[in-house]
Amino acid sequence: MTIPGVDVCVVGGGPAGLSAAHALLIARPGLRVAVCERAELRPRGAVVSIPPNGVRALEAISPELMPALRRHNNVHLSTRSFSPAGELVSSSEDGGLVTKIGVKGELLLLPWYALQAELAATLPDGVLHTGHKFLRYEEGADGVVAVFETPEGTHRLQASLLIGCDGEQSAVREQLVGDGPPQFLGRAVWRAVRPRPADWPVEKGFVGWGGLGQPSCLTHTIGEDGGMLSWQAFAPWPADRLDEIGGGRRAYTADAAGAGQPGAREQQQAAALLGRQRLERALTAFEGYDPRLRDLIATTDPAIVIEHGQFCREPDQCQVYARGRVALTGDAAHLGTPFLAQGCSQAIEDALELGRAVGAHGPTPEALAAYQEVRLPLSGEVQEASVQLFKELRSGTMTKHEIEVNTQRGFTSRTFAPLVASPAPMAAA
Ligand SMILES: Cc1cc2nc3c(=O)[nH]c(=O)nc-3n(C[C@H](O)[C@H](O)[C@H](O)COP(=O)(O)OP(=O)(O)OC[C@H]3O[C@@H](n4cnc5c(N)ncnc54)[C@H](O)[C@@H]3O)c2cc1C
Repeated sequence: MTIPGVDVCVVGGGPAGLSAAHALLIARPGLRVAVCERAELRPRGAVVSIPPNGVRALEAISPELMPALRRHNNVHLSTRSFSPAGELVSSSEDGGLVTKIGVKGELLLLPWYALQAELAATLPDGVLHTGHKFLRYEEGADGVVAVFETPEGTHRLQASLLIGCDGEQSAVREQLVGDGPPQFLGRAVWRAVRPRPADWPVEKGFVGWGGLGQPSCLTHTIGEDGGMLSWQAFAPWPADRLDEIGGGRRAYTADAAGAGQPGAREQQQAAALLGRQRLERALTAFEGYDPRLRDLIATTDPAIVIEHGQFCREPDQCQVYARGRVALTGDAAHLGTPFLAQGCSQAIEDALELGRAVGAHGPTPEALAAYQEVRLPLSGEVQEASVQLFKELRSGTMTKHEIEVNTQRGFTSRTFAPLVASPAPMAAA
């Protein structure tokens, strides 16, 4: 399908792109927004956390987004931590560290795909376009043309603004900033959501193995009955074997399956083999660990396992969020490390302020400059703290837990004024 010209073209339909689309549409009723996402929407990833500042930013964008997201929440009070060999290290029924350190406000833990699906479902029809892989843009004095690869061929989309929300390996960033790929952190990640094993240590809640600096696995039950389980395993990985785990791309075995296409059966067999190899690599990384953890990995459906490297950018590399008619938000703008669990929340805070800026200035370069001015110091501070924590972990000097840093630096206590619709009529920029 050919998308007609729009005011704002958003590249990427992850948490950053979809929350930006909501914010833009609320701030400027009548704005023509297209979100162009390369993949189809389907279950992928594991659980993401949205600390209280992200929840408040979502509420500031629109309180109406919250009921659907809360239905997927999996914050439970039971927590168990085990040593690699499986000895119980700590156990609590009050939420553990989160409660002890006193994180103020609501915390959401929900599957990545549930967040994506709910944010997509609540957009007006015709805003989200899947199967659109961004290739490049051409910027002129009056607008931007974004070029996409689609199943029907190359598509050129005219817009007043282009917003790159295309994640850690952002192609929009590559053209706008041109600072090369992000830095590999020397760690591999495996993620999946699967049925909870029958003899699991908790019916509903968190169970983790290992600790800082060693291979570790974090699990959360999902759903009203805790019948599903999200697991995310992290382990050191050598840079010279990065290609084995797919480099930076979050590759899915299901992506290779191509159901219905010629040669689909062979592709499915190749995908199943790839999935089994991923699980084998995860099992090797967790050699000698608690048999419950190894069984969890070994009995996961190979078709749903994500495997990739972990990356970050140094904050001083990320001093441009906007230039002319093109801006970046979320991981594309300021990729931190996984420490602080602020990836989603910073993407949502960005979305809120992008909406506010376009509400005030219309879809113009001035709006993007205003967005950068507000967001650069705020997300830069979080990015710096998360990179710093990773460095401390690596050098063995980490003294504070990430929840403590989040609280002490005031990240989780940020509050936001609600987004209000601009009274200005929507005129072509
Ligand atoms: C499939 C997936 C699963 C994830 N699962 C987890 C998880 O379980 N736990 C966790 O903590 N974090 C997860 N993350 C990362 C997390 O979402 C981000 O760190 C954070 O929320 C910031 O969101 P973002 O929207 O900036 O980036 P992302 O969430 O990475 O979203 C970027 C989006 O842009 C799309 N995209 C990329 N390149 C192009 C292109 N060229 N053209 C069009 N679209 C493009 C991607 O398909 C994706 O939908 C996941 C990311 C992805 C993409």
